[in-house]
Amino acid sequence: MKQIYMDNNATTRVKPEVLDAMLPFFKEQFGNPSSVHWAGRMVSGAVEKARQQVADLINCSPAEVVFLSCGSEGDNYAIKGTADALKEKGNHIITTAVEHPAVLETCEHLEKNGYDVTYLKVDRDGMLDLQALEDAITDKTILLSVMWANNETGNLFPIEEIGKIAKKYKVRFHTDAVQAVGKIPVDVQACNVDMAVISGHKIGAPKGVGAMYIRRGTRLTRFMHGGHQERNRRAGTHNVAGIVGLGVACELAKKNLESEYEYVRKLRDKLEKGILETVPDVKLNGHPNPDLRLPNTLNVSFNYIEGESLLLYFDMKGIAASSGSACTSGSLEPSHVMGAMCVDVVLAHSSTRFSLGADNTEEDIDYVLQELPPIVQRLREMSPLYNRDDETPLTCDECRVIRRV
Ligand SMILES: *Cc1c(COP(=O)(O)O)cnc(C)c1O
Repeated sequence: MKQIYMDNNATTRVKPEVLDAMLPFFKEQFGNPSSVHWAGRMVSGAVEKARQQVADLINCSPAEVVFLSCGSEGDNYAIKGTADALKEKGNHIITTAVEHPAVLETCEHLEKNGYDVTYLKVDRDGMLDLQALEDAITDKTILLSVMWANNETGNLFPIEEIGKIAKKYKVRFHTDAVQAVGKIPVDVQACNVDMAVISGHKIGAPKGVGAMYIRRGTRLTRFMHGGHQERNRRAGTHNVAGIVGLGVACELAKKNLESEYEYVRKLRDKLEKGILETVPDVKLNGHPNPDLRLPNTLNVSFNYIEGESLLLYFDMKGIAASSGSACTSGSLEPSHVMGAMCVDVVLAHSSTRFSLGADNTEEDIDYVLQELPPIVQRLREMSPLYNRDDETPLTCDECRVIRRV
C-alpha cells in the first residue's frame, strides 16, 4: 500500500544525515561528556559543536543554548522557572488561548498556585489583537508567552512586534518556537526574545531531545536538580547522540531553509487550491493569507463530517494526516484552537490538518486530491448532519456548546 505521510507537525522522519552523524555516539564514542578522561573528551567537543549549530540557526551565542529532553520540557522550564524566579516582582502571566498544551496546562497549573493568567483571545482567522496584548500588561506581569507558529493552523504570530511590546514594558518574553524553527527564519535577537523552545523530532532529529535559548542574564529557577550540566541550567547526563542529531538537523535546516520553504509551500498551495476547488462545503482554518501561515501547514474543515472518521478512511488509503480535534481520548470536545477561533462546532469536529515535509512529492498531492473527494462524499451521505433541515448557523456564543441534532 502507498504510504503518504502528511503529519509532519506531529513528528518527522529522522533525516539520513542526522542518523549517520548520531551512530558513532552509540558505539565507540560512548563517553559521558562531563568526564575528564579520554572517553569524555571524545564527546564533549561534539556536544559543543551541536550547541554552535543550534545557535547559528536562531542567531544567538552558543552559551545561551541549553539542551533538554523535548519541547514540552522547555515550555515548562521557561514558564515555571520564571514564575518562581520572579515571584517577588509579580504573579501575572500573559499567554494566548491557542498555545500548545505544554504551555496551557503549565499556566493552568500555576493558576492553582496563586498566579494570575490572561489567555488572549484570537479572531476568526486565529490572529491576536496586539492592542489587547499591550492592554493586558500590568505592573505585576512577569511573563509574556506567545508561540511563534501554531501547530494546528500554521498561523504565524507577529513575534517581532510582540518583542517590541515586551521590551517597551520590560516584560520577559518566552516563545514556543517548536513549529517555526527549521520552517521559517527565526532570529531570537532581532525579535527581542528572552527564551525560545525547540524540539528535535519536529525538524528531522530524533524524539527525546530539545533545546532552549535562554538570553544571557535571564534568571530562571531550575526544576531538574542534580548535576551541574548545562551551566547549572539543567541537570542530567547529556543525550549525546540526540544532541548531535539536533545539531546536524539545525545545520541542514539553515542550509536548506529557503529552498525547502519554496518547495513545500508550492505543494501545500497546490493541495489547498485543489481541495477548495474540488470539494464543496469546505472551510479553511487559519489565516486566509498563506504568507501568514507556515509554508507546510493546511487545516481545513469538511462540513458535516467527523474528522476522526475521515482520518480512518485516509488511513485505509495510506494517507497519514491529523485531526485538529483532540478526540483521541474519546472526548467530544473539539480542539481548543478551533474553539478559540469560534469555528462552528460541527465544522470544528471535521477539522483536518495536512502538514507536509520536504519528503512529499507532487504525486503525493495528486493522490490525495484524487482520493479525498469520494471519501468526503461517502462520509457525508452517512452523516446525520448532512441535509439536515435546520440550517441556521451557530453564533459565536453557541459555538462551544455541542449541538445535538
Ligand atoms: C510538538 C510541540 C511541542 C512539544 O514538543 P515535544 O518535543 O513533543 O515535547 C510544543 N509546542 C508545539 C507548538 C509543538 O508543536
